[in-house]
Amino acid sequence: MNAGQQTSILIIYTGGTIGMIRNAETGALESFDFNHLLANVPELKQLNVNIGTITFTPPIDSSDMEPTLWARIVRIIEENYDKYDGFVILHGTDTMSFTASALSFMLEDLMKPVVLTGSQLPIGTLRTDGKENLITAIEIAAAKAADGTPMVPEVCVFFQDKLMRGNRTTKVNSESFGAFDSNNYPPLAMAGTDIQFYTRNIKKYVPGLKLKPHYEYNSNIIIFSLFPGIQQEVVEQVLLSKELKGVIFRTYGAGNAPQKKWLIDVLSKATAEGKIIINITQCAGGSVHMERYETGLQLLEAGVTSGHDSTVEAAITKLMYLLGKDLPPEEIRRRMSISFAGEISV
Ligand code: ASP
Repeated sequence: MNAGQQTSILIIYTGGTIGMIRNAETGALESFDFNHLLANVPELKQLNVNIGTITFTPPIDSSDMEPTLWARIVRIIEENYDKYDGFVILHGTDTMSFTASALSFMLEDLMKPVVLTGSQLPIGTLRTDGKENLITAIEIAAAKAADGTPMVPEVCVFFQDKLMRGNRTTKVNSESFGAFDSNNYPPLAMAGTDIQFYTRNIKKYVPGLKLKPHYEYNSNIIIFSLFPGIQQEVVEQVLLSKELKGVIFRTYGAGNAPQKKWLIDVLSKATAEGKIIINITQCAGGSVHMERYETGLQLLEAGVTSGHDSTVEAAITKLMYLLGKDLPPEEIRRRMSISFAGEISV
């Protein structure tokens, strides 16, 4: 948009607690319509921002989020990209980090803010966190640098007082207002009396880049976590299943697994069949270093690929996205090891 014009933000309302109301009969929270949500935030009129809205009909609990719905969000952003300065996506907290991660890969060369937020309490209730989250997310999406370029031209999550890179976030608490964290990457901004942006942590704006939306994915994959006592037969059934294309393999510590010959044999067989096995740690923070211990090295030798310091959410959505491109296994392994949207530190 041109200098001097009012900033325009598109709110995409997908559902989640932020817009829910309590069913008087069952007591359970149910999705409700967007007008109810807007009516409860009259403060929006005070923002010096033009607000457009698009809502999912019906709005969904984010447990029902699906790759087809990610594609719908990408389509909405693509179709409205030139009309708006930024986008705010209202989303349930349960799968918000998966959606934020998926969008960071599907919106290649994004140069406008896409801020996801939601809340732990519905917006019409006392003590709701939804109002603050929504208002601040809009302010962040509308924020511009002195030269008129967007402050945060990337997919991010705003919650409570912290703006985080979307593909670095994980939901860490089902009750606290600080529901999200980004253990392996520092915040992009903090909201106190002012919003303080940490520009060194934020993706750089590159003039002239055109958005490249992606829609393909393949979700014939699984997240598979190690535990002491894991059984050969079950592992074989899962990892050697015919339809399986890839595995996010959650190992111990710096990427270690028990030294059992059968386990290494199954992993070697699966990778030889062209399955992509990505090693990420079960720890909440830190990175995989398979060369550090004998228990990690054996995985490297079995053809397992390092997922570095990726979150589960970023690893699974990136693998879905790459498998959707029908690339040879070696190329997918190579691309899993490099950063596309700041999702890993390499
Ligand atoms: N179940 C809700 C959802 O993810 C939880 C929330 O929004 O906080 O849609």
